[in-house]
Amino acid sequence: MERSKKLVLVAHCLLNSNSKVAGLVKKQEEIQKILSLLLEKKFGIIQLPCPELTLYGIKRWGHVKEQFDTPYYRRHCREIFQPYLDQIIDYRAVGYEIKALIGIDGSPSCGVNKTCSACWQGEVADLKPDELMSLKIINEAGIFIEVIKKILKAKEIEIPLIAVDEENPFLAREKIEQL
Ligand code: SF4
Repeated sequence: MERSKKLVLVAHCLLNSNSKVAGLVKKQEEIQKILSLLLEKKFGIIQLPCPELTLYGIKRWGHVKEQFDTPYYRRHCREIFQPYLDQIIDYRAVGYEIKALIGIDGSPSCGVNKTCSACWQGEVADLKPDELMSLKIINEAGIFIEVIKKILKAKEIEIPLIAVDEENPFLAREKIEQL
């Protein structure tokens, strides 16, 4: 069988929804359609690591971007991406194409166009209702995606970014169709 020599990088939880913050698994049938489309198009799929799971574990609370916007978390993101950067460089050097990097909109880490924002800190049980309600979606990337974009830019590597919006996952399918 001939190799497609085409690859996509995907956020970890697209292939493993178990990695998500408890309770956040939505629209899995639609996600499966996205994965089926990637396979139909004969893309090799590289699963990126989950930056939150690998630092805070499976029992973590849901966070907002501001809570992850620290030098420590950004360093963690850089470190876990490094082996994947090496693969990207290696594949490209011998003619493989990295067709896209697919993130998860709304995530404080893997959001591409949208992330979640609030002024949260302290004991979860002490959060006042108005502090809880201050959670909003803003038009920015999450921290892991920001870190990846900066690294790729420094290496002059262009990879199209596609966002899976779990409220409207079919939008990502349309973009993947065009790859
Ligand atoms: S950090 Fe990224 S990979 Fe991990 S669960 Fe959140 S969106 Fe998925």
